[in-house]
Amino acid sequence: MRADNVRPTIIRVDRIACSGHGVCHALEPEQIPLDEWGYPIPSEIIADPNIAETLVRLCPAAALRHTT
Ligand code: SF4
Repeated sequence: MRADNVRPTIIRVDRIACSGHGVCHALEPEQIPLDEWGYPIPSEIIADPNIAETLVRLCPAAALRHTT
C-alpha cells in the first residue's frame, strides 16, 4: 500500500549500458513496455521509491540510475 505523501522517484535508462534483459519489464510490465528488440521504451521511469529501488538493484546491466 502506498502512502499519499510518498513522492515518486524518477529513474533513467542508460541506453548504452542496457543489454535488453527485460528484468525491468518483468517487474513493471505496464509501466515499462519493451520495443521489438526487447529494450525498454521509456528513457525515464517514474515509480514508487521502493519499486524504483528494486528496479535499480535488480537490473543485471546496472543500466538503471536514480536521477538527482
Ligand atoms: S533490466 Fe536493465 S538491462 Fe534489462 S532491459 Fe531493463 S534496463 Fe535494460
